[in-house]
Amino acid sequence: MSDISYVESKHAPPLAECPNCNHMLPQGLGEVTCEICSAVCRITHQPTTDSLISESIPCPSCNTVLVAGTAERPVNMTCSACSSSFMLTQKIIKVEIECPSCERQLRIRPRPGTRELDCPACETSFNVTF
Ligand SMILES: [Zn+2]
Ligand SMILES: [Zn+2]
Ligand SMILES: [Zn+2]
Repeated sequence: MSDISYVESKHAPPLAECPNCNHMLPQGLGEVTCEICSAVCRITHQPTTDSLISESIPCPSCNTVLVAGTAERPVNMTCSACSSSFMLTQKIIKVEIECPSCERQLRIRPRPGTRELDCPACETSFNVTF
């Protein structure tokens, strides 16, 4: 059980905003706690839930196609054909931000709150808030 493989899910709920403070909520479904104001919000998104439950994933060891059967991520999957297990993890959403000085598109993983980014092209630092 030492070298477990990780497979990233193909589906993710859309990014949601906290109705209380308008900052971005941590990605997820169900009860999500706002990292800025600690409000607990319920996120439901039926199309994502449906596609997560019916998501099919090829086993990383033997390529047998398995169906997730649950909307939970991460979830530990066991292959019915070869009995190896792997983790099906949450898809990480990335967003594109434009550098204010050179207009280069940066792909970043959004995190709630304000953070400083350094543009790799022109080395300008700027703040982004989610
Ligand atoms: Zn909030
Ligand atoms: Zn397998
Ligand atoms: Zn730049």
